[in-house]
Amino acid sequence: KDGYKVLVLGGGSGGSAVAAHYCRKLGKDQVAVIDPSEQHYYQPMFTLVGGGLRSLQDATQPEGQVLPQGVAWLRSAAAEIDADSSTVTTADGRRLRYEYLVVATGCQPKWDSVRGLPEALGDGRVVSNYSPKYAPLTFEALKDLKQGHAIFTMPKGTVKCPGAGHKVCWLSEDYLRRHGRRPAVKVTYVTPSARVLGLQRYLPTIERITQERDIAVVPSTHLVEVCGRQQEAVFDCLDASGTPTGQQRVMHYDLLHVTPPHVPAPAVANSSLADAGGWLAVDKETLQHLRYPNVFGIGDCCSLPTGKTAAAAAAQFLVLRDNLDALMAGSLQQDSAAKYDGYTSCPVVTRQGRVMLMEYGYDGVIMEMFSKLGIDQSQEQYLMWLVKTLVLPAAYWALMTKGYDARSILQLAP
Ligand code: FAD
Repeated sequence: KDGYKVLVLGGGSGGSAVAAHYCRKLGKDQVAVIDPSEQHYYQPMFTLVGGGLRSLQDATQPEGQVLPQGVAWLRSAAAEIDADSSTVTTADGRRLRYEYLVVATGCQPKWDSVRGLPEALGDGRVVSNYSPKYAPLTFEALKDLKQGHAIFTMPKGTVKCPGAGHKVCWLSEDYLRRHGRRPAVKVTYVTPSARVLGLQRYLPTIERITQERDIAVVPSTHLVEVCGRQQEAVFDCLDASGTPTGQQRVMHYDLLHVTPPHVPAPAVANSSLADAGGWLAVDKETLQHLRYPNVFGIGDCCSLPTGKTAAAAAAQFLVLRDNLDALMAGSLQQDSAAKYDGYTSCPVVTRQGRVMLMEYGYDGVIMEMFSKLGIDQSQEQYLMWLVKTLVLPAAYWALMTKGYDARSILQLAP
């Protein structure tokens, strides 16, 4: 078969939801997913994997079990998208036609944006939670760290779930403290920003944590090189606009956790669907492509000015579904279209047993679901820890990847 009513590129968080919904709606063999990955990862759990609180297995299901049986799963990467002829060519040379295209290819860490990082990653000291290959090694390195200096870095540019670069720092510090090693290990968080966190509502809690727990915050500083052999990290110092001042700073490390900048999949970036930065150019409210009406986008691949998270993809799914359903029915109108408000969330794990659940939309508008129950979401909470570790993974596997409203489990969705 070389043509499908709905073709979905990428079967991750967003793509699996879309595929499941349209398989139910349209029936067997109408929907195809192109994705080379045999495994489906619940990536929010990588933070707990890196902290030694879950195994990688807990975060993984075979892709073949996640996608419904009626969906054709083509185990290859999309190599070329020709939106003018409504076709996609796969890396293994198949050419597929579509009536509607949903792009859900996520984004990828760009490890080689830091000199020496690809060589040093996984050497026992240089780690990153941003990949299923390396997340388990974070905990291995943490277990081995008896003394010295642990450094956690954030990059300039786009990052998938930027909060994950924080959480690993707070959770690692908590581990070292609980194991009596804290007096012997200095902990440093390095960020290109002027402050540790952008959102004013949540900033005081993070500032209190860094002060009370003696975590050094180094602002306006950006990792450019890792010298694995010498255990040295080289940083550019930045001015207020984020431009390098020409000064550099070298820090010795015994553990270095790197949050890498992220880029879109080359197939998207090189296609006519991309904006100037290579991201999928969709309308930020309707999620419909700005130039090709039969193309929609969901998740990290999109040009949306909000945090790239699974929670965002869950909210986007409901909008995309309504608008694509309406387009198929011939009734999609700009004024009555469903609109995405930029909702995203980040459960900041501040220590084992505590989470501060940040929820916001476009322009940093706070959109908290639990505050209507009288819960102060600007504080660390045990209840939010239960939401993060129990409720959200269950909602992800049972609802989101199956094409249902993942937020309905909370019965709190606005
Ligand atoms: P993905 O789920 O990444 O799926 C993309 C899919 O596209 C993959 O299966 C990939 O194989 C496939 N693909 C790539 N290129 C191609 C191609 N050329 N052709 C075909 N297929 C392709 N989110 C939260 O909500 N809360 C959290 O606490 C949280 N913590 C996180 C912690 C870490 C360490 C990480 C790494 C992520 C975290 N996230 C969190 C972010 C969340 O996992 C992502 O935002 C979400 O999975 C994005 O969904 P997606 O469908 O856009 O991309």
